[in-house]
Amino acid sequence: MTNLDLLDIASEFGNPIYVYDSAKIASQYQKLTSAFRSIRNLRINYATKALSNVSILKLMRQLGSGLDTVSIQEVKLGLAAGFEPHAIIYTPNGVSLKEIEEVAKMGVQINIDNLSLLEQFGAKHSKTPVCIRINPHVMAGGNNNISVGHIDSKFGISIHQIPHLMRIVENTAMKINGIHMHTGSDILDIDVFLHAAEILFDTAKNFKNLEFIDFGSGFKVPYQQNDIETNLEELGEKLSKRFIDFCKEYGHDLQLIFEPGKFLVSQAGHFVTQVNIVKQTTSTVFAQVDSGFNHLIRPMLYGSYHHIENLSNPKGKERFYSVVGYICETDTFGSNRKIAEITEGDLLVFRNCGAYCFSMASNYNSRYRPAEVLWYDGKAHLIRKKETFEDILHNQVEIVFSKESAEQKA
Ligand SMILES: *Cc1c(COP(=O)(O)O)cnc(C)c1O
Repeated sequence: MTNLDLLDIASEFGNPIYVYDSAKIASQYQKLTSAFRSIRNLRINYATKALSNVSILKLMRQLGSGLDTVSIQEVKLGLAAGFEPHAIIYTPNGVSLKEIEEVAKMGVQINIDNLSLLEQFGAKHSKTPVCIRINPHVMAGGNNNISVGHIDSKFGISIHQIPHLMRIVENTAMKINGIHMHTGSDILDIDVFLHAAEILFDTAKNFKNLEFIDFGSGFKVPYQQNDIETNLEELGEKLSKRFIDFCKEYGHDLQLIFEPGKFLVSQAGHFVTQVNIVKQTTSTVFAQVDSGFNHLIRPMLYGSYHHIENLSNPKGKERFYSVVGYICETDTFGSNRKIAEITEGDLLVFRNCGAYCFSMASNYNSRYRPAEVLWYDGKAHLIRKKETFEDILHNQVEIVFSKESAEQKA
C-alpha cells in the first residue's frame, strides 16, 4: 500500500480516516512466529484492545492467531469474528466475579490476577481450569503508564504472595492450567525479560498440571526513525532454548503463548487527516487538521510520537509546523515537526496508527468517530462506516419538561 493508495482511499471514503495494511499485519505475525520456530507448541493471542474491529479480528484468525481479551465485550467480539471459545483468553483487571463467571460459562480460558477473585471463583467453580497472572516485579522498559510489572502496579498477583496463593489453590482444590505475566509495553532489554521469565518458571514449578505459560507482550516497534526495535531473533533464540529446557525439567511439553497488540497492528495503521487552517503566530506555524484527541489521543495521553507526512505535497520544501487538532482544548499531535510545505486543504498522514488509536477514539465535542478501511489483496475494504448524527443521539433519552414543574415554581 502506497501513499497514492492512501490519497485514493481518502477521496473515495472521506477523511479523517484510519487505513490498515493487512500485509504488514501478516508480516509482523510471521516475524514473531518465525523467531520462535523451534517451539513445538507456540500460540500467538492477539491483544484485542489494540484494534478491535471485527474484520481485523477475522484477519487475525485467518493468520492462525488466538485472542487475548480484557472485557466480556471483547470476548463477544471474538466469538462474533468466529473464534472458538478455547482460542480466547480473558485477562481482566478489577472486574466483578459475575463477569468472570459469565465468560467462564462461554468456555473461554479465564486468567485471574488477584487473590480475592481467585478464592471466590475457586470456591464456587473448582472444576474450571484457571490461569493466574503473576507480577514478577521487574521493570521492563517504558514509562509508568505502560509498564505494569513493577512493585506498585495494580496488575497481577505478586510473587511475594505465592504462599497465600498456594493455600487458596489447595483449600479450593481448583485447577491451575496456566501461568501468565505481562510486564509492560516495551521490551528493550532482553535480559530483563529473561529475568522475569525465570521468575515465571520458578512459579510454574508449584503447579503440577500446567498446560501453558503465557509471557504476555511488550514487543517494541519503532515509532521514530532511530527508535530501537525489540530484537526478536535474539529473544526467540534465548527464550526458546530456556523454555525447551524448562519443559524437560517440568516433565511435559507446555504451550508457549505471547499476546502482542502493538507489535502486530501499530505499523499497519495510517491515519489520514486534512489541514483546515494554516495559522501563523509570532513564534509558530500551526497546521490545524480536521481531527483531535477525539480520534487520536495517544500523543496527548502519554506523549507518544506519530510521524507526520504531507501526502498532498510530498516533494515540497520542508518547514517547521506544530500539528494540532480542532478540539476546544489543547490537542497537539506534534510540535516543531519538519514537514513538506503545507497548504490549507492538504492531506496529512500519521504513522503507527494501528494500535490504541481508533480503539481509544471518542465522541468528544460531539464529533463523529471516523471510518476504518482495511487494505487487503490490493484493494480498499470499508470495515467501519463513519458515524452519523443519529449515532450521536442514539441512546440519549430526552426528558419532556412540563411547564408547571415543581422546580420551575421554586
Ligand atoms: C494490553 C495488553 C497486551 C498487549 O500489549 P501491547 O503492548 O499492545 O503488545 C497483552 N496482554 C495484556 C494482558 C494486555 O493487557
